[in-house]
Amino acid sequence: MISLQHRSIAHFDLDCFFVSAECLKDQRLKGKPLLVGGMSDRGVVAACSYEARRYGIHSAMPMKTALRLCPEAIVRTGDHDFYSELSQQVTGLIAEEAPLYEKSSIDEFYLDLTGMDKYFGSLKWTSELRRKIMKMTGLPISFGLASNKMVSKVATNEAKPNGQLAVALGERSRFLRLCPSINCRWWAEKRLRVCGNGA
Ligand SMILES: [Mg+2]
Repeated sequence: MISLQHRSIAHFDLDCFFVSAECLKDQRLKGKPLLVGGMSDRGVVAACSYEARRYGIHSAMPMKTALRLCPEAIVRTGDHDFYSELSQQVTGLIAEEAPLYEKSSIDEFYLDLTGMDKYFGSLKWTSELRRKIMKMTGLPISFGLASNKMVSKVATNEAKPNGQLAVALGERSRFLRLCPSINCRWWAEKRLRVCGNGA
């Protein structure tokens, strides 16, 4: 019987999915500061390219603020039918190969590969699936591989953009302790809240 400690979970996440999708439609957008989102008065950034992030822009930021930070940014209002179609293509490729998977959002998937190492390396298998997805769809995708969902998701964030990272069970605590992508402010705020409740 496989213990919970020895699970093997891969988390896949398409990199800047809406931005990558727009670049598939129009290759000239590659490498440009690109924003996808609403253009109304209260419009927000749904996704932005890495080039746009260099200006301090992030998703959920008001579009007006983003354009103030980077006036030359290119804006696309989004094509949800196209994004859904691409997401379905990726889902189909994963469903064909993975023994068990969960689609957690339009661009994120968890795969349970527990027990697969008995037959072949789960890292090799997952790397091959990643290559296949990128080849068949033209979309960059990253993954993290670890013993649970939380650590695999953190590993994906570390691997981005366009990368992969496996965290061995024995390395898990050290990885989380040293991981720069874990939001230090979140921990600080949590600690403040705990202190506040106790006062
Ligand atoms: Mg994503």
